[in-house]
Amino acid sequence: MRLDRELACREVVELVTSYLDDSLDPADRERFEEHLVFCDGCENYLDQMRTTIRLTGRVEHELPAELQAVLLEAFRGWRAS
Ligand SMILES: [Zn+2]
Repeated sequence: MRLDRELACREVVELVTSYLDDSLDPADRERFEEHLVFCDGCENYLDQMRTTIRLTGRVEHELPAELQAVLLEAFRGWRAS
């Protein structure tokens, strides 16, 4: 399950703007929400994205590469602990 979860976390990072934009198809949306149930890292990430959107008033479709790297690093650290 370790590999599956790693892949899914990357997918969450890629899909989060579509999710918040309400533009995911229902199957992807369901998968996304199921992932959040067991993955604290992605749940926190989604919270951060929501906060960002509340502050900026829009969804950033281009996630800065720097932020993406930080998040993926955080996911790795979270799984390792
Ligand atoms: Zn995750």
